[in-house]
Amino acid sequence: MFDALADRLESAWKSLRGQDKISQTNIKEALREVRRALLEADVNLQVVKNFIAEVESKAQGAEVVSGVRPDQQFIKIVHDELVAVMGGENAPLAHIEPGLTVVLMAGLQGTGKTTASAKLALYLRKQERSCYLVATDVYRPAAIDQLITLGKQIDVPVFELGSDANPVEIARQGVEAAREDGADTVIIDTAGRLQIDADMMTELADIKAAVNPHETLLVVDAMMGQEAANLTHTFHEQIGITGAILTKMDGDSRGGAALSVRRISGQPIKFIGVGEKVEALQPFYPDRMASRILG
Ligand code: GDP
Repeated sequence: MFDALADRLESAWKSLRGQDKISQTNIKEALREVRRALLEADVNLQVVKNFIAEVESKAQGAEVVSGVRPDQQFIKIVHDELVAVMGGENAPLAHIEPGLTVVLMAGLQGTGKTTASAKLALYLRKQERSCYLVATDVYRPAAIDQLITLGKQIDVPVFELGSDANPVEIARQGVEAAREDGADTVIIDTAGRLQIDADMMTELADIKAAVNPHETLLVVDAMMGQEAANLTHTFHEQIGITGAILTKMDGDSRGGAALSVRRISGQPIKFIGVGEKVEALQPFYPDRMASRILG
């Protein structure tokens, strides 16, 4: 488990072998290594601080289990705490049965929102759920075309009203079309900007109020690193999210954004994007991510 961190801890604990308790001094040194591992994984600094404080209080005075090396025991405490903080289990997508499940996608431009919308539709379709996609990004006609192309590729209908229509109206009518068609889930792709701005937030809030989604998923680029925390804070405060999709996990990122997003919003990461292809979406598992974050 966590070979890189284990190696580092090895030296921190070497001189302290043979102790029957996890002591104050070796905790400090070991926590420094964990802190470094988390920062290297791009976990937000404040999130790291809080996490370290919690691990410290759990590890203080923990009785050493006979036959278990204190360093291994400490690693297990860190692992278990990471998994717990990220929600423990996989958090499934809401599913309204019978009825129509409405999913609203939110996030900055370029994070993989449109791709994730199609990926999610395909993922659900493979589970025999019929989906509808709705294209509300009227500011970038290419985004509408992109969704139409993806929809054709995965055989999922795409509702759009061109780029002159009002996004809130498109969303409202898209949900109605999905309902009339007897679809199981409707996924609404929304416009993103390169940076958070007031207009984007107002439009998202208006769409949300109009369609009353069961899920509002924030799409976060894992490569954003530390910035994921601010992004999550703003979206959760202004729109209210129910979960997140972490994209581009096929890249170099160790995925520290997962911890930040969860800690800041209290909402679960539900899926990860692991490639450009439309099949490249996987459910999020906290224990796997804990291993990746710790390196
Ligand atoms: P949007 O502006 O948020 O809708 O972003 P797009 O869906 O257009 O994606 C932006 C770019 O990121 C595209 O080139 C996608 O192919 C790419 N992309 C999206 N998700 C992933 C992912 O999980 N892994 C990788 N490697 N690329 C991705």
